[in-house]
Amino acid sequence: MTAENLKNISCLVVDDDSFMLKTLSIIIKQLGPEQVYQADNAQDALKLIANRNNNIDVVISDLNMPQMDGIQLLRHLGALGVNLGVILVSGEDPRLLESVQNLGQQYKLRVLGSISKPVNKDLLAKFLSDYKRDIAPSPQGPATMVFADELQAAIMADQLDVWFQPQVDVSTGQLVGVEALARWHHEEKGFIPPGIFIGIAEKYGMIQKLTDSILKKAVKQISDWNKMGFDITLSVNFSSAGLCHLEMPEVLDSTIRNSALRPDHLNIEVTESALPKDSSATLDILTRLRLKGFGLSIDDFGTGFSSLEQLKLIPFTELKIDRSFVHNAADNKASQAILESSISLAKRLNIHCVAEGVEDQADWDLVAKLGCDIVQGYFIAKPMPAADFIPWVREYSKKHRTPAT
Ligand SMILES: [Mg+2]
Repeated sequence: MTAENLKNISCLVVDDDSFMLKTLSIIIKQLGPEQVYQADNAQDALKLIANRNNNIDVVISDLNMPQMDGIQLLRHLGALGVNLGVILVSGEDPRLLESVQNLGQQYKLRVLGSISKPVNKDLLAKFLSDYKRDIAPSPQGPATMVFADELQAAIMADQLDVWFQPQVDVSTGQLVGVEALARWHHEEKGFIPPGIFIGIAEKYGMIQKLTDSILKKAVKQISDWNKMGFDITLSVNFSSAGLCHLEMPEVLDSTIRNSALRPDHLNIEVTESALPKDSSATLDILTRLRLKGFGLSIDDFGTGFSSLEQLKLIPFTELKIDRSFVHNAADNKASQAILESSISLAKRLNIHCVAEGVEDQADWDLVAKLGCDIVQGYFIAKPMPAADFIPWVREYSKKHRTPAT
């Protein structure tokens, strides 16, 4: 591959040794890339990456650096969910470099390779060419970078929004509830995908504050709709962090008492993976929530490893089948088998069954045929801001969907 081919790759070199930093930058420029940024520490490197105007494609980083080393840098990049190429440079034992390379892959980074000092120019050129060859435009556009402190500030300033995704009864087509979903519109970076900021909130201990804020806003909104005559339930996602405060059922109880809703209007969704194993506190909290009349939903059912055990332990009132077993299940024997047995399991346990990810008529027809109670998905509606909800309900009620017979 010629230098011309590599010229549009934007690189960032990170090394605490100023001589190495300069040398590496010169070598990289000789190989083709025109834009080469430099940082003599990992913190500055993260700032440069976070600035989307830089559009950094490949990070070439030293492993041994004071304050934050190369492994910590990888961890931070992994937590941010960025889609970057990484080349590691070190004078260390090649076996150590290899383990770091594996670690980077576990953080879902595109580790192109590692090189030891002194730098082999041909190997570096090969890694950059590999990047160029493998690169495919991401369907979601460039990776969105956000920092934990930006999220913290947004939560404190109450800048997170709640969107609502409708849930309808399969047999009557009637609207029965909504799931509240957190949305973050960053002033400069636009919409940050929930997959990124929820992960950051969980990792940096902010998820409880985030959940509280979403819950408060959503309860107020559903109360208002309730007063307008819409008797619908509200489902809110809870993380494991919220399930270890023993006073949580009392706090929720007073929130609901101060609204126009009853406890059975609220469904607490917990994912299987959020449930800590052998935690008596979690079992205590969930059981008392149920005692107070709240709904308990096991979310993303089928994706965890201990679903069945948890169904036995915890008094769930609803089983929510993960979208991966619903959409296109008609064409996939394994999905269909899991979907079918999940629905019949819910029936035998006498709890509600919700299918997520109903995206087309075929999905709807299949879950209807299998006897699922409630559906949620793009076929009915995408998540929407509160302001769009009433207009959507009006439109929807005109063409009430009914199951295929
Ligand atoms: Mg959910």
